[in-house]
Amino acid sequence: MTPKLDCGHPGMEQEYDVIVVGAGAAGLLAAGRAAELGGKVLLLEKMERAGRKLLITGKGRCNITNAAPPCEFFQHIHSNSRFLRHAFARFFTTDIIRLLNAHGCATVVERGARVFPLSNKSADVVGALMQWVNKNQVAISYRHKVASLVIKDGQIDGLKIHTPAGNRVVHAKRIILCTGGKSYPATGSDGDGYRFAASAGHAIEPPRPALVPLETAGDMAPRLQGLSLRNVKAMVWVNGKKAREEFGEMLFTGFGVSGPIILTLSRFIVGELHQHRQVEVAVDLKPALDETKLDHRLLRDLAEFGRSRIDRIARKWLPAAMIPVLLEQTGIAAGKQGHHLTATERRKILLLMKDLRFTITGCRPFKEAIITAGGVLTAEIEAKTMESKLVRNLYFAGELIDLDADTGGFNLQLAFSTGWLAAEACMRRSD
Ligand SMILES: Cc1cc2nc3c(=O)[nH]c(=O)nc-3n(C[C@H](O)[C@H](O)[C@H](O)COP(=O)(O)OP(=O)(O)OC[C@H]3O[C@@H](n4cnc5c(N)ncnc54)[C@H](O)[C@@H]3O)c2cc1C
Repeated sequence: MTPKLDCGHPGMEQEYDVIVVGAGAAGLLAAGRAAELGGKVLLLEKMERAGRKLLITGKGRCNITNAAPPCEFFQHIHSNSRFLRHAFARFFTTDIIRLLNAHGCATVVERGARVFPLSNKSADVVGALMQWVNKNQVAISYRHKVASLVIKDGQIDGLKIHTPAGNRVVHAKRIILCTGGKSYPATGSDGDGYRFAASAGHAIEPPRPALVPLETAGDMAPRLQGLSLRNVKAMVWVNGKKAREEFGEMLFTGFGVSGPIILTLSRFIVGELHQHRQVEVAVDLKPALDETKLDHRLLRDLAEFGRSRIDRIARKWLPAAMIPVLLEQTGIAAGKQGHHLTATERRKILLLMKDLRFTITGCRPFKEAIITAGGVLTAEIEAKTMESKLVRNLYFAGELIDLDADTGGFNLQLAFSTGWLAAEACMRRSD
């Protein structure tokens, strides 16, 4: 039987092969591909336009994907990366670049193999995807919020939806859920998909914020608010043992720490906090110098400029904004002459420069998390098709699945690839 959607207008009942829920990265790819393969496709989106989250990606520039070789690419995916091998085999980095280029969005590869639109405008990525989706005649209904799934005899039968014209049930044979995670809920992805999946009997790995700023104890971080550090090393200590480290850029905020290396470490840290472990982040401000070399440097500068106040000499070692805060930690008076610094005081400064410690008390909420870790368990989804192993003709794609990756374009690629694969699998089915 052909699936039907009653559009609410007499005489306008339409028939669709596939209904895709959510017009984000995964949903646009799923809808466009199913339609390109000849399917009659309806895309339901609860917001007033498509790609709200895509528009804010990469600080408005959209880091589309990452051109690293596949083996390296996989290392940036933290949960269930093997699950993605079929999706990536069907549609990978060069494929999304080609698709965007063919629809007017030129791309450029930057440092770290990150791919961006040449225009630096995420709107051009959304524009190109919309051009492709429209060319393939996908029907799109905005302000159509799916409320629940209708499942009969172990297979999908339709969806209950809220529309501006009222509530109704739409019937469809194949449905691809691309409703995203819970992060930045103002973009539309506020966790509905987990509820739908759970109602279908799926187990959900509890969603938690990932790639998220962290909160710290004490007032040191807030006092350094706005200060950004480059070329530093952040080391994570869990219950007194060193567990992880990252080198690069970080930032102090009004509540703690953020910036690229902190976001990367946050996934691991949030997991440890959930296990009620004690987590500290130690910042090495001079990772290129070991303690001996750094001490020689301090001694040399103190000998040469020892007549100056220590807060002036320290400008050679530290960003100006840090000096009063760090000197306060050591108990050394800012006006003390360099020559009068004792060996113990010098050691205190050195230790702070090599091991500036922050106790992590928590993370910022979902509304500030770049992605959501956790989601629909991959063990209950066919990796070759993205179809539910529990409910026939129900498919999943994108961040809704228990998959997450580092910053660098990896998260969007996994949404694009799973959306594409789900669409192809839907269109291959003949029953
Ligand atoms: C600030 C920020 C910056 C980011 N930058 C990057 C980056 O540069 N590169 C990168 O790779 N990743 C980035 N990400 C992550 C990336 O945006 C997501 O991983 C990706 O968008 C997930 O795609 P998705 O299609 O699964 O979900 P989404 O893009 O979240 O789309 C889900 C869609 O489903 C709709 N929806 C939800 N529930 C319903 C419902 N009940 N009925 C109808 N529609 C519904 C939503 O409105 C939404 O449009 C960033 C994320 C954020 C928040």
